[in-house]
Amino acid sequence: MLISDVLFTYKADWNGTKVIIADRYFPSSKMCHVCGNINHDLKLKDRIWTCPACGTVLDRDINAAINLKKEGVRQVLSEHAQDKLEQNACGEIISPVSLHSATKQAVSEKQELSSDLT
Ligand SMILES: [Zn+2]
Repeated sequence: MLISDVLFTYKADWNGTKVIIADRYFPSSKMCHVCGNINHDLKLKDRIWTCPACGTVLDRDINAAINLKKEGVRQVLSEHAQDKLEQNACGEIISPVSLHSATKQAVSEKQELSSDLT
């Protein structure tokens, strides 16, 4: 983590917000925010370009800002979904291993119950 990332994170924590860091190779400028096509021929001097896949005319900086916003939302939703998977209805943290054990125990209890009835 770069010192600037540490400072941003510190300031964000101080203000009750969160810093989301995109991968350094995330193609924020080269990816069309409309269709997701990546323009590998895009040069730094190309400030306005037309997506060869969907024909949208894109401003390089605005397109990059939109792609970074989308990436940030994607990361937050992914973390949120992961948190939901790790919590059961009672708010307990469970792992896939303990979930598997709990399922096996429930099945075995059901089998015992049905064998008691016969
Ligand atoms: Zn496009």
